Amino acid sequence: MTDDGVITVEGLSKQYDGFKAVDDVSFEIKRGEIFGLLGPNGAGKSTIISILCCLLEPTSGKVTIDGLDVENNAADIKRIIGVVPQEISLYYTLTARENLAFYAKIYGLSGKEMKNRIDELLEMVGLTARADDRVEGYSGGMKRRINIAVALLHNPRILFLDEPSTGVDPQSRKRIYDTIRDLNRQGMTVLLTTHQMEDAEKLCHRIAIVDKGKLIALDSLDGLLKMVGETDIVHVTAKEIPTEAVDIIKKIDKVQKVSLDEGNMTIQLVHGRELLAGIIDTLMDSGAKVESIQIKEPDLETLFLHLTGTRLRR
Ligand code: ADP
Ligand code: MG
Repeated sequence: MTDDGVITVEGLSKQYDGFKAVDDVSFEIKRGEIFGLLGPNGAGKSTIISILCCLLEPTSGKVTIDGLDVENNAADIKRIIGVVPQEISLYYTLTARENLAFYAKIYGLSGKEMKNRIDELLEMVGLTARADDRVEGYSGGMKRRINIAVALLHNPRILFLDEPSTGVDPQSRKRIYDTIRDLNRQGMTVLLTTHQMEDAEKLCHRIAIVDKGKLIALDSLDGLLKMVGETDIVHVTAKEIPTEAVDIIKKIDKVQKVSLDEGNMTIQLVHGRELLAGIIDTLMDSGAKVESIQIKEPDLETLFLHLTGTRLRR
């Protein structure tokens, strides 16, 4: 462990009835970092984060949180971590304030101290105005924001969030991003999981990409994107693309992949910008009615495709 490593994971594996959900995963999270686990559904993200939060026992491997190993120190670790689970856990017939008070009492807060802490957290997640409404009337994003407030009641130093933006409207998503960034600026170390590349791209200092239980890449966004540097993705929107045109384009040297989805053609090619004119000519000559052409810079979706041959959203 380096000096600033606050979470260390070494050779972590988890089996469910012989099925390897997590397979020999190792990484280290630095103090003050926002670290993301990015991968498709079923990759093993919730399993990993649940083990780090002391909610699930590993089959093998070693995990330490702030120098404490999860096997023997669950109670001490729980005092310094906040956990926002993938599933919302709130009492829907209670108001946000009542929910927070319920959990605050479990942490031993009461009286003025409890009231101040709840007010502060409601403000932080932007729900002061709705604090006395029942949670059942809240949007998915508002419920998630209250769940984040619950996780922060006891002033943890490390925050775990499992899919913080799933089922969340764009407005709440922005608020959640701002909250996570503010907390991080005040010194909070953050580990989040997500299957949405936007979360990873916009929030995380470093991103670990996981697929089928394995960690397949780990770096900053820039570092990861360098791995796919030479690939361009071209999106063509056109009506009536004949299959012959697709076949001709597929045969062009440097074209790696062509897919067609209801008039949207996606072409993956290496250093292929200079080939674009030829591709457009082929389409025009074939009688396709081209409506738009867009060259996309490589992103995490491209990287995932590059590393696994499958799409991140599936
Ligand atoms: P993610 O959070 O990335 O979607 P999970 O960690 O939830 O992935 O699941 C990883 C794999 O383990 C999936 O194939 C899932 O079906 C399986 N799995 C998760 N929990 C259990 C369980 N309690 N029993 C059996 N299999 C499970
Ligand atoms: Mg999950």
